[in-house]
Amino acid sequence: MPLSTEPNRIERVGETALKVVWGDGHESLYAWEFLRASCPCAVCREAAPAAAGVKPAEIKPVGRYAMAIRWSDGHATGIYSHEYLRSICRCESCVPNQMTEG
Ligand SMILES: [Zn+2]
Ligand SMILES: [Zn+2]
Repeated sequence: MPLSTEPNRIERVGETALKVVWGDGHESLYAWEFLRASCPCAVCREAAPAAAGVKPAEIKPVGRYAMAIRWSDGHATGIYSHEYLRSICRCESCVPNQMTEG
């Protein structure tokens, strides 16, 4: 069964993280620093960003498939597609799957 990449709910969890509840009921929790470090833009993939203490200044949806995050360090070019977010879920049931992808 393919994983759902349709979020039912996206919400901030206090000051520390973003929570996504997916269409299939799966819940993903992303710490801000992890999300910042996982920025999918070309610049950040080339050189890992300094993510310590970074928080989102603004989160807004991009169409129906992604979200854009403007960070407190001024970086705003990362577009986090829902599919990408689902693929980097760090929960106990997802991490082993990611390991096998090499
Ligand atoms: Zn980036
Ligand atoms: Zn997961």
